[in-house]
Amino acid sequence: MIKIAIDGTAASGKGTLAKKLASKYNFVHLDTGLLYRKVASDLIDQKKMNYGNLEVNSCEIAKKLDFQDLIKENLRSEEIASLASKIATIPELRKILDNKQKTFVNENINKFSGCVLDGRDIGTKILPNADFKFFIDASIEIRAKRRLLEKNISFLHENDEECMLQSLIEKMIVRDRLDNNRLISPLVPAEDAYVIDTSSMNAEQLFLEVSKIIEGKL
Ligand code: C5P
Repeated sequence: MIKIAIDGTAASGKGTLAKKLASKYNFVHLDTGLLYRKVASDLIDQKKMNYGNLEVNSCEIAKKLDFQDLIKENLRSEEIASLASKIATIPELRKILDNKQKTFVNENINKFSGCVLDGRDIGTKILPNADFKFFIDASIEIRAKRRLLEKNISFLHENDEECMLQSLIEKMIVRDRLDNNRLISPLVPAEDAYVIDTSSMNAEQLFLEVSKIIEGKL
C-alpha cells in the first residue's frame, strides 16, 4: 500500500490536497483532525468541556468513537476547533486516537492500493514510514482569509469583514501556538517531508505540484 502523509497548519490547503489526491489515485482518505473535532464536539454537547477532568472525559469519548460519525459539516465551528487543539495536548487522548488512525490504515490495506492521511503528526508519528510526506503552510493572513471565504458570509460593511478577519487571525494564532508547542507530537515537518508554502498558490497549483512529485517517484 502506498502511504501519503500530509501535515500542515489550519487552512493551509492540506485538506483539499488530501481529498484531490485520494480521488485521483483512488486511495482511501482520512482527515485525522475530524477525530479531535468529534471528541471536542461531544464534550460540548455533553457539557463536559468545562469540568475539571477534561482528560478522563475526552478519553472516554475517544474510546467509543466511530468513523461513521465523522461528518465534517457538523464539526466545522471555531468553538469546536479551539477545544480540539486544547484536548490535542492530552497525551492519553493522543494515544487512543493514534491507535484508531493506525487501525484505520491496517483495515484498508487490502481494500485500497494507497492511503492519504492529513493532520498534524502524520509524517512524524502516525505514518513515519510513509512513501511521501508533505508539509503545507501559508501566511496567517492568507489562511484566515481562506477560512473566512469558506464561511460564505456576505458582509454589509467592510469594517465588519475586517473585524471578523482580525478575530479569526487571533484564534488561529492561539491554535497554531498550541499545536506547535505541545510536548507530545507538536506540529513540525518530518525531516524527509517536502515543505510547500501555499501563500501564493491556489488549490489546483498545489495539487499539480504534489502530483508531479509523486509521479516522478512512482
Ligand atoms: O485539521 P483540523 O483543523 O481539523 O484539526 C483540529 C485540531 O486537531 C488541530 O488544531 C490540532 O490541534 C488537532 N489535531 C492534531 N493532530 C492531528 C490532527 C488534528 O493534534 N493529526
